[in-house]
Amino acid sequence: MKTFAYSVREYERPFLVEAVAPRHKLEVSKARLNVDTVHLAKNCDAISVFTSDDCSGVVLEKLHEIGVRFIALRSVGYDHVDINKASELGISVANVPEYSPYSVAEHAVAMLMSFNRKFILAQSRIRDHDFHLDGLTGFDVHGKTVGIIGTGKIGMAFARILNGFGTTILAYDPVVNPDAILLGVRYVSLEELLQKSDIVSVHCPLNEQTKYLLSNPQFAWIKKGCILINTSRGGIVKTVDLIEAIENGRLGGACLDVYENEKGLFFEDHSNTILEDKLYLRLSALDNVLITGHQAFLTCEALKGIAETTVLNLDYWQREAVSPNELTNISHIEIYLY
Ligand code: NAD
Repeated sequence: MKTFAYSVREYERPFLVEAVAPRHKLEVSKARLNVDTVHLAKNCDAISVFTSDDCSGVVLEKLHEIGVRFIALRSVGYDHVDINKASELGISVANVPEYSPYSVAEHAVAMLMSFNRKFILAQSRIRDHDFHLDGLTGFDVHGKTVGIIGTGKIGMAFARILNGFGTTILAYDPVVNPDAILLGVRYVSLEELLQKSDIVSVHCPLNEQTKYLLSNPQFAWIKKGCILINTSRGGIVKTVDLIEAIENGRLGGACLDVYENEKGLFFEDHSNTILEDKLYLRLSALDNVLITGHQAFLTCEALKGIAETTVLNLDYWQREAVSPNELTNISHIEIYLY
C-alpha cells in the first residue's frame, strides 16, 4: 500500500516520516490537495490530508478515478471533507479524533492573555526602547465569568485552565459533560452565556448547526466589552457581523486562530502578494483583533499524536479492518458541505 501525504510542512514532516515510513510506503508533498493536484496521488491507494486541503465532491471523484480508496485525515475536524460523497464512492475516511487538547486550549489562553495584557504593543515599544505604560492596561481574569461553547476535549482542557484563574464558568453544549459538572461548570442557554460572560471561547465543531452560530442576533445578546476567542473553526463566527460588533463597541475584542475564508490564505506565505480578501483585510486592520494563522495545534506533542494516529488508521486500512476513527461508517453524522 502506498500513501501520498498532501500539505506536509517542514514542521510536520519529521513526525510524520518517523511514524509512518517504517510501516507504509509514503510520499510527502507540500502541495495542497485540489482538482489540479489530484494526479500527484496516482498509483497510491491512500492519501493523507490536512484541514487546508480540498476534499469536496469533485476532488473525491477524481481521487476515486485514479484508485484512491482511503483518506487519513491529520485533523480532528472533518468539515473540509464531503463525507457523504466519500461513502457513496466507497472511499473510507478516518480522522484523528484526539491529540493533545492542551495544544489548542493553551493557545486560546495564550491569545487571551496576550490580548488582555497587550503583549504585542508592549513588545514593539520595548524594541523602540519606549518604556511608557499608557495604553497597556489590562484586566484581572480572576473573578470574571467565562463562557465556553462546546465542552468536549478542548473545551474541558480550556475550562480546567480558566478554573485555575479563579473564574465562574458557564457552558453551552447540547451534550452535558459530567467532568464539567464536577468542575463546577454551569450549563446555560447560548443567550444566557453570551449575556453573562466577560470572555467567550468557542470549542465546538463546524457543522450545519454551528455554521454562523455567532452572528448579528447573538452579538446583540453579548455582554458589552466581551472578549471572544475562536480557536475552533472560522465558519462558526460570521466575520462581517463580528467586525460590526467590534466597530460598534459591543464586543471588546476578538482572538482568532481561525477565519471563515482561511482556505488558500492561511498556511501559505503571502508576504510578497497583495491580498484580495477584503473581509480579511478589514478584520486584520482592527486594533482589538488578535489573529494567528490556524496554529493552535502546533506543539510537538500534538504533531507526534497526529502522526501516531495517522499511522494507526493506515494500519487498519492495510489489514482491511475498520479503524475506530473511521467517519464513513457513521451513518448519523451530519456534515456541513461547502
Ligand atoms: P470534541 O468532539 O471533543 O468536542 C466538541 C464539543 O462540541 C462536544 O462536547 C459537542 O457536544 C459540542 N457541540 C457540538 N455541537 C454543538 C453546538 N451546536 N453547540 C455547542 N456545542 C456543540 O472536539 P474537540 O477535540 O474538543 O475539538 C473541538 C474543535 O476544535 C474541533 O471540531 C475543531 O474544529 C477545532 N480544532 C481546532 C484546532 C486548531 O488548530 N485551531 C485544532 C484541533 C481542533
